[in-house]
Amino acid sequence: MTVAAPPAALMQTYRRWPVEFVEGRGCTLVDAGGKRYLDLVAGLAVASAGHCHPRVTEAIAAQARRLVHVSNLYLTEPAQRLSARLAGLTGGMQSFFCTSGAEAVECALKLARRHGGQARAIVATDGGFHGRTLGALSVTGQPAKRAPFEPLVGDVTHVPFGDADALAAALGPGTAAVNLEPIQGEAGVVVPPPGYLQSVRALCDQNGALLVLDEVQTGVGRTGAWFAYEHEDVRPDVLCVAKGLAGGLPIGACLAVPGVAEAFVPGDHGSTFGGGPVAAAAALAVLDVIEEEGLRDRARDAGLRLLAGLGRIWPDGEVRGRGLLVGVTLPRAAARAVAALALQRGLLVNDAAPDVLRVCPPLVVTDDEIDAALETLEEVWDEIRET
Ligand code: PLP
Repeated sequence: MTVAAPPAALMQTYRRWPVEFVEGRGCTLVDAGGKRYLDLVAGLAVASAGHCHPRVTEAIAAQARRLVHVSNLYLTEPAQRLSARLAGLTGGMQSFFCTSGAEAVECALKLARRHGGQARAIVATDGGFHGRTLGALSVTGQPAKRAPFEPLVGDVTHVPFGDADALAAALGPGTAAVNLEPIQGEAGVVVPPPGYLQSVRALCDQNGALLVLDEVQTGVGRTGAWFAYEHEDVRPDVLCVAKGLAGGLPIGACLAVPGVAEAFVPGDHGSTFGGGPVAAAAALAVLDVIEEEGLRDRARDAGLRLLAGLGRIWPDGEVRGRGLLVGVTLPRAAARAVAALALQRGLLVNDAAPDVLRVCPPLVVTDDEIDAALETLEEVWDEIRET
């Protein structure tokens, strides 16, 4: 492993690992010293089609040769095709394109207030993560991330995730929207009890509040369906998507059902780079790859193999998740130590919380790669449990 010194000119907002990557293909990354790594992080659930999938790379290159940017003052073909494609996947939702997950959430919050009129309040969940901008941070339910930046956007209440009674008590005629993830990713892959999302949907309907689902992490095939809400047979009013959509190029999308989307009028919202031709072309290629290579089924099957294998290594841990968004709780706060030792042995996994490992590989991951990763994790744990 090449050990890079912390670069003095970069702000220290991340606890970066001392490794510099220079190449990637599928689930393999190569560092500056030529060492190969098996990547079960996928750039934080982004490289859905694998690193540098030839179809995606070619779509990016071809579009970059043709047209890169004109702004949203004008139409471009890739953005129109992508909005039509997403409408097809979501039963007719309309898209607003932006460049990140946080920006998609910002759009959703503004849309909810525009639609809500006098109803301004937003209800979100403890532990939920929605991004680092001030609006997205306001609905994020993690006090340590919020406290240094308060005061945040007002009229936001947090309730325990998975508790429909607590949500019912928090809702009222002043509620514009309920905003939550179907599975909390950054919190350590927290899955709500069965039926919870359906109860949330019913409570939103009873109170005239919009249901905003943040599928920035769970969307675009990661859980074995295009969107995690499909597993629960629930339809949101507003849907936030980003991460895996363009396989690594910056993109975000806030989608809304007809009747809600029209609450925005020209001038209400915008994003200079949103849905630019290159990112949109990449997204169209990623969606084609997911469809044509059967990657939703792959995510489901590979996820089951991963869950079973992690359960064998940590029989007393809680192994949870859906498809290729998987977490395992460790008996103590050893996730960083496991990730560090795994990195030394050429395996990337993520310490989502001090005692939770998160595994979210590219959706193209093979059974052999999963087995190899499990073998490494077992060796790593054998070494660490002794210390
Ligand atoms: N929402 C969810 C559920 C996320 O997991 C994330 C990032 O991890 C975000 C929003 C923020 O996305 P971004 O980092 O692209 O702003």
